[in-house]
Amino acid sequence: PIIARLDGISRYYGSGAGQVNALENITLSFDKGAMTALAGPSGSGKSTLLHILGCIDKPDKGTVLIDGIDTTPLSLEQLSSLRLEKIGFVFQSFNLIPVLTAYENVELPLLFKELPKQLIAEKVQEVLAKVGLLERKNHYPRQLSGGQQQRVAIARALVGNPSMILADEPTANLDSNTGKSILDLLFSLNDRESITTVIASHDPAVLERVGKVVRIRDGRIFPD
Ligand code: ADP
Ligand code: ADP
Repeated sequence: PIIARLDGISRYYGSGAGQVNALENITLSFDKGAMTALAGPSGSGKSTLLHILGCIDKPDKGTVLIDGIDTTPLSLEQLSSLRLEKIGFVFQSFNLIPVLTAYENVELPLLFKELPKQLIAEKVQEVLAKVGLLERKNHYPRQLSGGQQQRVAIARALVGNPSMILADEPTANLDSNTGKSILDLLFSLNDRESITTVIASHDPAVLERVGKVVRIRDGRIFPD
């Protein structure tokens, strides 16, 4: 079954002579539980596509279906609650909040939901254990290595039980060994928990491991 579908997506930035066609007529489906890589050079449209798939941004043309829901008529507020429910995002530069501990960073998405404190605590510790960082839960981001910070970011992405994890260049700021261990973690989550995963990357070490690679160039899908 298909968990997400982009149909005829275009996204333009600016207007007139300065207009950038970041995405042009993209049609793409993501199967439930699949691992997909989005490959392409810098500026090809990978982030824009992930942001649209992840309900952070809206396309200028086309439709986005997430878990059978057509997002076209949704307001930005409705879109953001859909995102909270269905999508976990992982970024290149981790995007942790520096004044919050690992635990507090991971807890954050759950504070928007009305859940009992005890349940929140259990869930946060469960995902921190899953990424191997339970013993560092009271560390602040600056006290953690890059790889550890990315693990916290992955735990934060996981804590809401998302249908999809979208990772934008998740290994770009890591040395190759640390990058490999982050990729191992994303693969094992995909494998063991069937979390649909999309990784945007131009790192050959990532692309050679992912079975399905979608190539983008200048905002268009490029046949293999
Ligand atoms: P990638 O993730 O592959 O590097 P992006 O999706 O970030 O590509 O960018 C695609 C194109 O859109 C690039 O030409 C980029 O300069 C342009 N772009 C991205 N974001 C913006 C923005 N907020 N305003 C204007 N142009 C943008
Ligand atoms: P890893 O084995 O995950 O790459 P490191 O060897 O970089 O981790 O870090 C080992 C320990 O040092 C970790 O417990 C981490 O919390 C701590 N640490 C790493 N970088 C820093 C830093 N910049 N400031 C303080 N502590 C750090």
